[in-house]
Amino acid sequence: MKRLIPILGMIVVLTMLLSAANWVGPARLPGPLGPETSLPPAPKPKVETPVTITWLGHSAFKLESEGKTIFIDPWITDNPTCPIQVGDITVADLILVTHDHPDHVGDTIAIATATGATVVAMYETAAKLQEDGLPPENVLYGGAGRNIGGAIEIDGITLIMTEAVHSSETGSPAGYIIKLPNGATIYHAGDTGIFANMQVYEALYPMHIALLPIGSVFTMDAGEAAKSLRLLRPAIAIPMHFGTFDILAPNADEFVKLAKKEAPTVHVIVLEPGQSYTLEPGNYQ
Ligand code: ZN
Repeated sequence: MKRLIPILGMIVVLTMLLSAANWVGPARLPGPLGPETSLPPAPKPKVETPVTITWLGHSAFKLESEGKTIFIDPWITDNPTCPIQVGDITVADLILVTHDHPDHVGDTIAIATATGATVVAMYETAAKLQEDGLPPENVLYGGAGRNIGGAIEIDGITLIMTEAVHSSETGSPAGYIIKLPNGATIYHAGDTGIFANMQVYEALYPMHIALLPIGSVFTMDAGEAAKSLRLLRPAIAIPMHFGTFDILAPNADEFVKLAKKEAPTVHVIVLEPGQSYTLEPGNYQ
């Protein structure tokens, strides 16, 4: 028996060496960033009525659907690419703030005060907006705001606050998934780098349109944003957060090129500031 032990040991070592010789590195998993996507996208709800999306430059958007008007990150004053004045905005039902940076909070207080809109923001950012003069009745849940997690409903509009990989002067940065009563689901990523949980949001809330930052430096660049399409799997992607400052990507050309390669089924729409896109009723996959 005593002589057997070293022999058995030798056999074990030899087996290990032989299998190491055959080892060719980590397996290439068929994940979302691999050569192929193995699963079809989660089915998207049918869109029953049109939704109009207007880009106001940078990350500022206006959504109009069935008589409701939603602004996201309404940076109007001092936004070098915004084609309108804050005084032009007379109608707003909801204002969604992704995070506490001046180019995203923008004119939230002025617009909410003028229109009576309800502001949705992270708990700590909601508190700061009230310190800065926004009446509590203009803030979600009488001043409370909210945080990441859970789908809440306001006037039939379902709002999911998502994570975003970024920073914020108060609270945490976020994005929004907006499920409109007409079936359309729109994701505004806020300012973010790419993150794996985008895949989780695709599974939970299959989206028609993804509004994605592509300008680099503070957010995803064109390459990351193109890869993110393989995680989010929207029908349509609209780039944002470019062309505003000299240090950002000046245009969306690179994103358009890479998106075509990475996610050829996604329809990329590049808007000019002030321009609108209407998602018509129908089935989108
Ligand atoms: Zn920011």
